[in-house]
Amino acid sequence: MTGDKGMAVMELQCPNRHIVGRIIKHSVGSPLLLDMPKRLREDWKQVSERPMLTTHCEVCKRAVSKATDTLKERVDCLIDDEWEHKNQYVLPFLITSEDWAQTAYTAPRAV
Ligand SMILES: [Zn+2]
Repeated sequence: MTGDKGMAVMELQCPNRHIVGRIIKHSVGSPLLLDMPKRLREDWKQVSERPMLTTHCEVCKRAVSKATDTLKERVDCLIDDEWEHKNQYVLPFLITSEDWAQTAYTAPRAV
């Protein structure tokens, strides 16, 4: 028999490793859910209608965002994996014009 193929929990984290949400699948037949703190669980079908998955890190007080398709691909890999059911994915901070100004000065140089 296979392991628990079909189950998956992918924790979504901000770049400072705070958990901002989870994508959950409980079993083979169950729907994919998005679980965000202080919000109702959402069915992935609703989520997938948005091009970007955007949420807010309460600790950093900044928005994080990633393409919905990219996250779906990652979680699909996890669902197909027989042995690995849990992993993490870091969502980058949503870049604002202020951030661009910062990174212009702080970006590391290629050596
Ligand atoms: Zn954070």
